[in-house]
Amino acid sequence: MCPRCVGNDWPREITGGDPLATPFLQHFDEAGWSRDGVDAVVCTHLHVDHVGWNTMLENGKWVPTFPKARDLIGRQEYEFWRTYDDEAQRTMLGDSIKPIFDAGLVQLVEPDHVISPEIRLTPFIGRTPGHVSVMIESEDECAVITGDMTHHPCQLAHPDWMFGDSDPEAAVLTRLRPFAEWADQPILVIGTHFAAPAAGHVVRDAAAFRFAV
Ligand SMILES: [Zn+2]
Repeated sequence: MCPRCVGNDWPREITGGDPLATPFLQHFDEAGWSRDGVDAVVCTHLHVDHVGWNTMLENGKWVPTFPKARDLIGRQEYEFWRTYDDEAQRTMLGDSIKPIFDAGLVQLVEPDHVISPEIRLTPFIGRTPGHVSVMIESEDECAVITGDMTHHPCQLAHPDWMFGDSDPEAAVLTRLRPFAEWADQPILVIGTHFAAPAAGHVVRDAAAFRFAV
């Protein structure tokens, strides 16, 4: 679970039915950011632990947490979940996604969308039908924010280990190709679900890989 992205005040199944009350926004302020200063938010996919902070509870109403941001959501990801027959998913769409649509903040994008000269999306389909990761290239340095194309460094050694992927076969291939591409390269891999330290490098290790931090 990635509780930072579940958001506060939701009685979600993933939090055991109890709403979270984390100091995420306080930490956000202390780090020198402001909610109004965020100009883009990327949803790598539309799972409950990745969309919660799209909105926040204010005077009993769910409002955009980042009111001046474009909210980038994959078109094929949204189209899949929009009609998905699941009560929990419908609830999530209603309170984490609909308010940002209503506020005119959502931009539905293709899986290889270029956000800026330095930041682009890249599709890693399998975890969900429209899952993307985020590639960052600047001044000869490169990093990737994984999203959920991998959940734990153990999948570097065992890319075939599953974690509830919507298309398991595609998810395994989705992991194998980039792991091979990133191995022994100066690419900082930032594992969205990895425990701290969550950033490191992929190193080839016998027939598979390992995570070096
Ligand atoms: Zn996740």
